[in-house]
Amino acid sequence: MYIDSHAHLYLEQFDEDIDVVINTAIKSEVKRIFLPNIDSTTIERLHNLEASYPDNCFAMMGLHPCSVKENFETELSIVKHNLSQRKYYGIGETGIDLYWDKTFREEQIYSFEQQIVWAKEFDLPVIIHSRDSLDLTIEIIAKHQDGKLKGIFHCFNGTVDQCKKVVDLNFMMGLGGVITFKKANLEEMVRFMPISNMVLETDAPYLAPTPYRGKRNESSYIPIVAEKVAQFKNMQLYEVASSTTRNARDLFGI
Ligand SMILES: [Zn+2]
Repeated sequence: MYIDSHAHLYLEQFDEDIDVVINTAIKSEVKRIFLPNIDSTTIERLHNLEASYPDNCFAMMGLHPCSVKENFETELSIVKHNLSQRKYYGIGETGIDLYWDKTFREEQIYSFEQQIVWAKEFDLPVIIHSRDSLDLTIEIIAKHQDGKLKGIFHCFNGTVDQCKKVVDLNFMMGLGGVITFKKANLEEMVRFMPISNMVLETDAPYLAPTPYRGKRNESSYIPIVAEKVAQFKNMQLYEVASSTTRNARDLFGI
């Protein structure tokens, strides 16, 4: 069995055929799917999908760095309010994105640190998005790591050295479709990454693996990522499946 530790299956890209998408994932042995939130506009969709598939879909709550704008304080208060209402399985996704827009850099850092505090308070993993900001996000996690903080550097595509730092912080790294892209050159880093620090993810609908690159990603493609990991690390597929599933279960507490 596999776990997709990161998918946005509640977005409108799946409105037409979500039942097929979930059932195809289950048939491909991807039976648990963790859903990171984006911002206040996606919460209702997130909750509705989870309610439709309570055995397969698990909601997380947070504010995405690309949604940190002038109104970030209102957005954060909505996250906080929701966290107090029910159980979630993680805080996120949060982090820092300096690729698209640096205007709200300081606000993104504030939002990230606030969500780290909540992750500790609620004893939940923090799901980290870092784009053009991996050293900075690692530095911030290091500052807050008191032995109690846990989480995932989602869509990890750093160097061997950055991977080492994340391992030292006792954090997980999410591997997805990007490792199947030839030009990504992540083979050496994946070979180095201890299997004990690895979880699988799709980030659906984004970042579909080869041979579906450029198309809509979905959770049933998780085995393609697992096969690539097995190939890079010279491991059996079932070892990759069982280890990454165990890691995700331990982290999310299911
Ligand atoms: Zn995401």
